[in-house]
Order: sequence, then C-alpha cells, then structure tokens
Amino acid sequence: MTDTIFGKILCGEIPADFVYEDEHAVAFADIDPKAPVHLLVIPREPLPSLKDAVQEDCALLGHLLHVCKVVAEEAGLDEGGYRVVTNIGEDGGQSVAHLHFHVLGGRTMQWPPG
Ligand code: AMP
Repeated sequence: MTDTIFGKILCGEIPADFVYEDEHAVAFADIDPKAPVHLLVIPREPLPSLKDAVQEDCALLGHLLHVCKVVAEEAGLDEGGYRVVTNIGEDGGQSVAHLHFHVLGGRTMQWPPG
C-alpha cells in the first residue's frame, strides 16, 4: 500500500489536503497542476491502474467517476465543463502506479491531447 506516492499520502506519510474523502476514495490537488483546477481522485484500495481492474471493481470504478463529478461540481466547474482523464501504463503517460483520475478544468482543453 505504501510503495507509491499515493499510498504514502493515504497513510499520512506524505501530506495532502483532501478536498473529498469517504470510505473508498479521496481527492486532493495535483502538486503540479496542468489547469487552474487540477484534482486527483484515487481509491483507498491500491489498484495500480485501470488495466488491472476486474469485474469485481465495477462498483468502485463507478464510484470513483461519481466522486470526479462531485469534486468538479464543488470546484465550480459544472457550468464551463471539465475533463476527466486516467493515464494507463507507459504509453498512456502514467507515472504513479496507483489508479487515479485527473479532474481538470478552469480553462478550455485542447483535443487531441499530446
Ligand atoms: P500520472 O502521470 O497520470 O500518473 O499522474 C500522476 C500525478 O500525480 C501527476 O500529475 C503529478 O503531478 C501528481 N503528483 C505527484 N506527487 C504528488 C503529490 N505528492 N501530491 C499531489 N500530486 C502529486
């Protein structure tokens, strides 16, 4: 559990201010924001990546997406819109091996991403 930065955040070894927390998930600001609002939503369970999810994780995945919506709303992103991203593996640009959803907003996003 503590072998990633996010595992260390979950056990309090690395500080982070949670903007949301419940039994299954927490959310906090990205340390290197790529947009005026950049939050990370992570499960308490140490699932490394979306590619490691199995059928039994469906409820958790749905819950995490709902938390993305809740924190985006609380950050005032509802009207303008926002982006939810999860990077997977090396080609996907994932740098922390603990599943996380980026919630990005506060500016117009470009498409396609780099
Ligand atoms: P990814 O590259 O998709 O794996 O995203 C990992 C994200 O974690 C990056 O956007 C980093 O800026 C962010 N990050 C790394 N360390 C911390 C930290 N201590 N607190 C908050 N965010 C972090």
